Formats: sequence, structure tokens, C-alpha cells
Amino acid sequence: MTNTFKITLRISLAILLGLSLVVPQAYANHSWGKYHWDLSTADTMANPLNLGDNLTNGWSTNLSTASVDWNVSVLKNEVVPGASNANCDPTLGEVEVCNAEYGSNNWLGIAQVWTYRRGGHIAQAVVQLNDTYFDTPTYNTTPWRNLVMCQEVGHTFGLGHQDENFSNTNLGTCMDYTSDPTGLAGSNGTLNNEHPNQHDYDQLVSIYAHLNETSGGSNGKGGKGKPSTTPNITSSAQSEWGQAIAQDAQGRDSVFVRNENGFEVTTHVLWTMEYEGHDEHND
Ligand SMILES: [Zn+2]
Ligand SMILES: [Zn+2]
Repeated sequence: MTNTFKITLRISLAILLGLSLVVPQAYANHSWGKYHWDLSTADTMANPLNLGDNLTNGWSTNLSTASVDWNVSVLKNEVVPGASNANCDPTLGEVEVCNAEYGSNNWLGIAQVWTYRRGGHIAQAVVQLNDTYFDTPTYNTTPWRNLVMCQEVGHTFGLGHQDENFSNTNLGTCMDYTSDPTGLAGSNGTLNNEHPNQHDYDQLVSIYAHLNETSGGSNGKGGKGKPSTTPNITSSAQSEWGQAIAQDAQGRDSVFVRNENGFEVTTHVLWTMEYEGHDEHND
């Protein structure tokens, strides 16, 4: 009897221990998971990931805020003068950040990430912010600009969303959809969604942890090897994003993938709150 009891107790303890190990893992599931830069923390401390500032219309302030916020994480970044142009062409090994009046296409911001089809490491990325909406009263606020800038930069590091419902309680991270980025309107609880939270930082630790164990073969920025051809320009047109592979909580296609010259190009889209997911007109 005593032995049976001891064994039962041991098994119960083992199960409890197992659960305590499994639960944090299950919780930490918000990375996009398919790609990351082939850079260790040490690499980025010596040579931070460049965020190219191609911005006008006051956006540089929001990029500076996002840069400081994300530098709390293991992946260090630095804002540098942009090397891009009106098309927001990518630069190998860097993130180019652009804004323009991209038109009434229903998106506030997109992040496009080129990964090597061999190895899956990120080669380059661009962020585009749509002033067609950010010049309107609803979105032309520092909190909305901070939220979208922070979220799109987060996607270029390999992070996904923590939540995609605009009307539930804020989680206190820019990787959470909200109709009130400040948390002050009373509609979405009290937490502020303009910056990353600890969960985002933890997620980046788990995404980049293995890189300290890789040996050789890497040129640091841009991962292994070089592209055989110069990548094509990016495109702000939905028709060129490729196939939809994920939907947000509103059922709107939110992640697209296309193949291009040895790269897989992933496009993350943040639609406006008002968009219902279908085009009213073809243009
Ligand atoms: Zn890797
Ligand atoms: Zn997003």
C-alpha cells in the first residue's frame, strides 16, 4: 500500500512537473515561426540590424520610438539613413522603412520579408505605411502611428500577432489589434498597445536562441549565401503579394506568400478597422 501510494505520488509529481514545463512553451506561440535573421545578439551588438529611414510626414519620430522599444530585445537595431526610393526597394541585409500615399487600398501598413528558399533565413525586409489613412483624423495620431510602426517592424524580426481582435481588451503590446492604442478611451481596457511587451521580448529570445550555437558559413547579415539575381522591387499592390496563407480574426486575408528569384516573399498586412475583407470596386 505504502509503495503504491509513493509510486502514485511520484507519477503525479512527474505529471505536474511536466505540465509546468509544457505550459510556458504552449503560451509562447506567437512567432511567425518560419523565418529569422541569421544573426546572434553578439552579431547585432557589434553591427546592429539597419532600419533604413526613408520617411517623411513626421514618421521618423515613430521609427525612433520603435527602434528604442525593440532594442530592449535580443536583436539589436539601429536607425540609419534609408537607401531606398519611391518604390521602397529592399536592400540586402537591411530593413527599409517607407511611407507614402499608397491609395485607398484598405491597408494601414504592410511588412514584406524576403527569405532564402534554402535555409529560410531573412535576406531583407521592407515596411510601408499608408498615409492615405494616416492623413485622416482617425489614424493621424501618435498612438496609431506608434502601434503600426512597432507592429510592422516586429514582423520584420520574425514575430506574429498576439491577438487580432480590434475590440477586446488590450494586451499591452503593439502586436495586438485594437481600436484604442492608448488604452485611455475605455473601450479596450487600460493597457497601452504602442510598444512591445515582455512576451514579445521572450518570443525573440526563443527565436534567436539557437543562433549562438551555429558555426561558420554565415556572412552575418543576410544569412548564408547571396541571391543569384537582384531581387525585384517590392509592391504595395495586393495583386502582387501572391497567395493568401492566413486570415485575421475578422476573416480577412492577412499573410501572403509569393516566390521570387530564389526567395520566398511573405507580406503581412494590417487592414483598417473599417475594411470588411472584400473589394467594393476593382481598380
Ligand atoms: Zn537560423
Ligand atoms: Zn501585423
